[in-house]
Amino acid sequence: MPADLDLAIRGGTVVTASDTVRCDVGIRNGRVVTLAESVTGAAREIEADGLFVMPGGIDAHCHLAQPTYGGVACADDFETGTRSALAGGTTTVLSFATQVTGEPLRETVTAYRASAQGKAMIDYGIHLIVTDASPQVLGQDLPSLIRNGYTSFKLFMTYDGYHIEDKGILDVLQVANEEGALVMVHAENHDCIAWLSQKLLAQGDTKPHHHAASRPMVVEREATHRAISLAEIAGAPVFIVHVSGREAVEQIAWAQNRGLPVYGETCPQYLFLGADDMERPDFEGAKFMCSPPPRDRANPDTLWRALKHGTLQVFSSDHSPSRFEGPDGKKAHGTEAPFTKIANGVPGLETRMPLMFSEGVSKGRISANEFVALTATNPARMYGLGPAKGTIAVGSDADIVLWDPDRKTTLSNDMLHHNVDFTPYEGMELTGWPVTTLSRGDVVWNDGEVLAQPGRGRFLARSTPEPILRYRQTNAANAA
Ligand code: MN
Ligand code: MN
Repeated sequence: MPADLDLAIRGGTVVTASDTVRCDVGIRNGRVVTLAESVTGAAREIEADGLFVMPGGIDAHCHLAQPTYGGVACADDFETGTRSALAGGTTTVLSFATQVTGEPLRETVTAYRASAQGKAMIDYGIHLIVTDASPQVLGQDLPSLIRNGYTSFKLFMTYDGYHIEDKGILDVLQVANEEGALVMVHAENHDCIAWLSQKLLAQGDTKPHHHAASRPMVVEREATHRAISLAEIAGAPVFIVHVSGREAVEQIAWAQNRGLPVYGETCPQYLFLGADDMERPDFEGAKFMCSPPPRDRANPDTLWRALKHGTLQVFSSDHSPSRFEGPDGKKAHGTEAPFTKIANGVPGLETRMPLMFSEGVSKGRISANEFVALTATNPARMYGLGPAKGTIAVGSDADIVLWDPDRKTTLSNDMLHHNVDFTPYEGMELTGWPVTTLSRGDVVWNDGEVLAQPGRGRFLARSTPEPILRYRQTNAANAA
């Protein structure tokens, strides 16, 4: 008689965003079909004694196969990026299709979808980056793309060639809310950065660490407040990406206290790096440059509280893979290049989950359940992926990671699977490690070995984000 189940995970402790339970997990056709005290008779068993059985991570903000910008290449494509993700306990990634100004959005998406074809090792979704809020984009492209499962867009308030004026932001927010998508905003004031940068360069302050001085917290605070106000005016929820520190957190908390549907994420670079890292000699500081930049060393305390108390709901990597060496990396314009010419971005797809597990769960800053919420369940709800992704429940996809909570590891770039030649977290001592990763029931990572084939990952058409549904309910209740 053929076995009823393909796989059973036995003897582990299942952790979801809400509960911690000793039970077995039965898997059939890539989905969880049984949670029980004892699951026997499966075709294959995985012994999970002493391990946490957790939902696979969802990295809702990472950059794979992005266009070259300023002579600097995106080092990771969908193959190396997803390989790196699964080795770090992540089973779903959301990357970005970037509209070049004037290009029809549908063409942007078609070309970007092709770049994942035959490469992705785990499931992936795609956010749209809107740079041109033309009547065609607003009236036709966005509504039809939302119906095809692209239910989130990112807007930039800074960067030449990408940033969009306030009026365009209002237009996109309105269409998103009406049609069922969530708007993510990169909140930094473009003109303030340009003004401050010019001043710094004129006085000879050109080093990597002057990058931090060109975009201090007030630049982010002002833009965060403006994004919140624009969302209030347009009547739409808004999600603030890569919140770097206390001043932006204050704005988000202020909005939430007023009952506004404002959400946000932070990233490893703001918890585990500091502005002083950019002062390292011999151009090493460039390894730590990203936007917004890492802040002062007291700043992470505020972010931990914001994560713990739900002011920020999501923990993403903002993996932006530029190599350090080579003609198309951070040294593209030489080691004397002014900070305005050095590529922004730090890698972090593979280290996101282990860093948060070690610094958060192992050090007692957050619970194991909060870890699951921040790294998997909340991103699934925020971006229309639940309940198939982001939890362990009967009917959900068997995207599962087994964590050894006691395993000690010293991070080094040699052990990572991305195509970047450094990690900003080199030498950090971690407690807790993802020892086995399952994607839809397939063991894709085990005992230090990648077992997945490129191309097995599927495109995820996403449903309406929960913030939109919740906002509609609130409005309906207020109208009644
Ligand atoms: Mn950004
Ligand atoms: Mn980003």
